[in-house]
Amino acid sequence: MQRITLASRPTGAPSAENFSLETCAVPTPGPDEVLVKLHYMSLDPYMRGRMDDAKSYAAPVPIGGTMEAGAVGEVVASNSPAFQPGDFVFGMFGWVSHGRLPANQLQKLDPNHGPITAALGVLGMPGLTGWHGLNEYGKPKAGETLVVAAATGPVGSMVGQLAKRAGLRTVGIAGGAEKCALAVDRFGFDACLDHRAYKDASALRKDLGAACPNGIDIYFENVGGKVLEAVLPLMNSYGRIPVCGMISYYGGAKGADADLTAPMIWRNVLVKFLSVQGFIIMNHFDRYPAFQKDVGPLVANGEIQFLEDIAIGLENAPAAFMALLKGGNMGKQIVKLV
Ligand code: NDP
Repeated sequence: MQRITLASRPTGAPSAENFSLETCAVPTPGPDEVLVKLHYMSLDPYMRGRMDDAKSYAAPVPIGGTMEAGAVGEVVASNSPAFQPGDFVFGMFGWVSHGRLPANQLQKLDPNHGPITAALGVLGMPGLTGWHGLNEYGKPKAGETLVVAAATGPVGSMVGQLAKRAGLRTVGIAGGAEKCALAVDRFGFDACLDHRAYKDASALRKDLGAACPNGIDIYFENVGGKVLEAVLPLMNSYGRIPVCGMISYYGGAKGADADLTAPMIWRNVLVKFLSVQGFIIMNHFDRYPAFQKDVGPLVANGEIQFLEDIAIGLENAPAAFMALLKGGNMGKQIVKLV
């Protein structure tokens, strides 16, 4: 089997030498464990944080340790009565071709209910993140205006589509003309602005203000930096900001993303009475059944659209991950392993 380990810790953006592709023996499942041949694994922005030796909500990957990831695949051996060879499952296997996990850490998938890759994106952790963050902390109301960046990714596209269904005006922010067209044509955003086309926050704010004539009631925070700086003065009183991610800072803020200051943030929070709520979805997995009940049928009948960007081969995972952090992905980034 093959696995990718953390060879060294990056400073700023990760590079190829931070990863090591290794060949090792396929593990033998112990009592109540299941051995799985992985078909697809997920690449997600949070993995950048795991590469740092910094205190966070989750432990870092140790040097020489296998990179973390959710993955889906087929059971090849099972010491649990709950799983049989041939079953398809999701679990946190890591960047590996084969993996072994206790049965109680696996989720069974039904391949007759759509592609198994959906468990990594639209019906997996990122979809749940968008659904929970929007409903729980964004508290959307018909007639309001929502802004979200990384609008064509699995979180942003879920947020935009759910907000649109709830009767809001939805304005996306994405990198490049192609992603902006995708946001409007496929994910139903009323408008989408290309953040890369603006040299600083004030230029972006001018067009964002025009796209949000009634101000912004919900800013679903995925990125921070220049986008947040553009948004804050446009927020309406009693606006809500679910703080989901801040990808522009993950490798250290650079350029216009580094301009935002604490006084500007707090002044807007104070004078506009904003509600700002951070959340980490791993603390809310108990919401998964409700999410699946609500969103599963909408994905099955095409009312919620999704898009996947599939890289081929475990050996290409580092390059796909580095591209993801810079916006190189077009939709949910996945790696096909077989
Ligand atoms: P995406 O697939 O959308 O990929 C990340 C995207 O971020 C890139 O494609 C790029 O899109 C955008 N981006 C990168 N750098 C910048 C920048 N400097 N300014 C603006 N946009 C940038 O990722 P996900 O949908 O998986 O995740 C979206 C966010 O949600 C991330 O911040 C992630 O960390 C967070 N998250 C948080 C969770 C939680 O529990 N709180 C759980 C899951 C995700 P573009 O080219 O359009 O700019």
